[in-house]
Amino acid sequence: MTSDSLQQALKQYFGYDSFRAGQREIIEAHLAGRDTLAIMPTGGGKSICFQLPALLKDGVTIVVSPLIALMQDQVTALKENGIGATFLNSTLSGREANLRSQAILDGVIKLTYVAPERLFAGQFIEFLNIVNQKIGIAGFAIDEAHCVSEWGHDFRPEYRQLRQIRQLYPDVPVIGLTATATERVREDINQQLGLYQPYIHVASFNRTNLYYEVIPKQGTEQSYLNLLQQIKRMQGSGIVYCLSRKRVTEIADRLREDGIAAIPYHAGLSTKEREENQTRWIRDDVQVMVATIAFGMGINKPDVRFVIHYDLPRNIEGYYQESGRAGRDGEDSHCTLFLGYQDLETIKYLIAQKVDPHSNEPLEAEQRIAHQQLRQVVDYAEGVTCRRAILLRYFGENFHGNCRNCDNCLTPKPMEDWTVESQKFLSCVARTKERFGAGHIIDVLRGSRKEKVLQHQHDQLSTYGIGKDRSLDEWRQLSRSLLHQGYLTQTTDGYAILKLNDRSWEVMRGQRNVLLPIERDTEPATVVERETSESPVDVEILFKRLRLLRKNLADGQEVPPYVIFSNATLNQMAEQQPTTRKDFAKLSGVGAKKLEQYADDFIAIILEHHLQYPPAETTASVNSGIKTESVTPKSKISKAGTQRETLAMYENGLDIDEIARDRGLKPATVWTHLAQLLESGYAINIDRLVSPERQNVIYEALEFIGGDSLRNLFEHLREEYTYDEIKVVRAIWQNEKEPL
Ligand code: ADP
Ligand code: ZN
Repeated sequence: MTSDSLQQALKQYFGYDSFRAGQREIIEAHLAGRDTLAIMPTGGGKSICFQLPALLKDGVTIVVSPLIALMQDQVTALKENGIGATFLNSTLSGREANLRSQAILDGVIKLTYVAPERLFAGQFIEFLNIVNQKIGIAGFAIDEAHCVSEWGHDFRPEYRQLRQIRQLYPDVPVIGLTATATERVREDINQQLGLYQPYIHVASFNRTNLYYEVIPKQGTEQSYLNLLQQIKRMQGSGIVYCLSRKRVTEIADRLREDGIAAIPYHAGLSTKEREENQTRWIRDDVQVMVATIAFGMGINKPDVRFVIHYDLPRNIEGYYQESGRAGRDGEDSHCTLFLGYQDLETIKYLIAQKVDPHSNEPLEAEQRIAHQQLRQVVDYAEGVTCRRAILLRYFGENFHGNCRNCDNCLTPKPMEDWTVESQKFLSCVARTKERFGAGHIIDVLRGSRKEKVLQHQHDQLSTYGIGKDRSLDEWRQLSRSLLHQGYLTQTTDGYAILKLNDRSWEVMRGQRNVLLPIERDTEPATVVERETSESPVDVEILFKRLRLLRKNLADGQEVPPYVIFSNATLNQMAEQQPTTRKDFAKLSGVGAKKLEQYADDFIAIILEHHLQYPPAETTASVNSGIKTESVTPKSKISKAGTQRETLAMYENGLDIDEIARDRGLKPATVWTHLAQLLESGYAINIDRLVSPERQNVIYEALEFIGGDSLRNLFEHLREEYTYDEIKVVRAIWQNEKEPL
């Protein structure tokens, strides 16, 4: 297969124009029949690495995946692209399972997902043997391959049996995929799966589209308002992580009162409630999921725009994985951590509760490690250097320079040259034989008379007392920065003993200068306003209209909106505004099947939008010729959506209750439809709903206290105006203010 035809296949089936880093090499290795191990961060694009080869080879590819929800998602997405895919697991009836098995034997299925326990249960291997004889097994893909390792965070004993695959089918290539970063787990996967001289691809774990920031908590009420403000500034779906179930419930309730569509998720809810809430969030019926960390594993919603940790995470690895649920689709996304010292005490208390369930003795080693991990989180949060660099260092990657996408890099602190102090510090580590933590080193440098210093005769060292000119805090900041900048390492056994590395010696030899960002004032950091891309107003409005259509189409098929088109595709569509099928096909994310299925609906919206905002003379759509392909707006308008059905009835003179009754909706939903349309820039006369006098009063309230909190507005208006009235007037007000 030439590289060119690989690229064509990528466009045809998935609609993408080019491969992401690593994908092509992995696919080529797998196609050549080689075992492969793909290690890529969340959102790196692992799925295509086994899906594309599966389509290009004869026979069926067996995909082992640990989570039923994940299987369903992937199969739905594949079918949307017109690809034969199915899954077999314990949720199916015997009849359904038989039908699917038959479809596999008939050769219409290219990818079959199975749970690992299913693979070796009952007659499945016999079935596979028949499949192999009749149509052939093209490959095995082991998703979430870290589950084979006890060293990983998600060990599953069933995965251990997967080794048999290599023995049973020595000639069928196996590809393992994981987002787990540690070296130890990688080696374990290799061994446990019995991979034969695999091609290994380790991608960078730098998620360049994620913006990292830390906001200090300032008292309960102010922190909540900061959270609310933060969410209001975000567009699209998000997750807010909290430490306890109680807090999850509180925050979700309060956000809802303030007009944010938020729902809770924690282990205390029934399975049914959890599933329901999860589905509503995935399908964009609600914007925000407020959850404990019980939520998120196996959720591959690609268009999560923000992840906020309202309480401190317990360790950096967890923080990286949880925050990493944002922006799988590669679009800009926000990761915000709230740093509260009160939370710190809560977690410390929880750690102190770790006891052996049998003897009731405290688990000292575990407690010690947990404390150190927590310390690292606080160091991250208090850090003044690039957040990305701190996270990546944790996974053994060195990142230098200004990332331009974290709060510290965007508002850098002034730098001072601390090379001499660093040399003092590092040589003190060397003289004390790399056997102590930062506290002790600082004691020695500052000439302390503490018992521990004297006992080790560290008052005899040449570095004793040479750092009296700097304060304890300054030394602490330096030691933290040396760690973050990779000039020093520490053990992870809970004792945090400082160790020297190559870079430390370079500093001591004078081959490197150490710059330290200086925090002069202790004022709480203000929320950094990021420059947002300035799209023209009409593009923003079109985007909203296209998004509304996508949501309606998705609801009609009971799938999440992203399955229809990703936000990236929608953005491109709003910018390029294609009005012919030919131009539509050029969008990234539009393959053959989706072109056929959706082009006309979306083009209709674009054409209709052009009536209001005529396109500039020079746009591609005007010049592309082939006018015959374009659809006329009128024939298609009726297809687009429940909100517009509401609008049509409203404009025909029906009132809210009539529309609700007629359409089988709640009146509140009808109000919401109108508000959504108003926000998307539709001009609707609402005088029939809210008298102009009342509109004026609400408008004044909005001007006075802003539109952030519906509840505040409601109270400000002395509860004399309904939430519905406030909502529609606010929609107009918002659209006038910033037509976003
Ligand atoms: P992972 O499994 O590594 O977390 P996915 O396979 O789910 O990541 O891919 C993440 C997102 O990136 C998906 O929305 C996917 O469609 C998209 N994607 C994957 N490969 C490409 C590509 N070559 N070009 C554009 N988008 C891609
Ligand atoms: Zn940075």
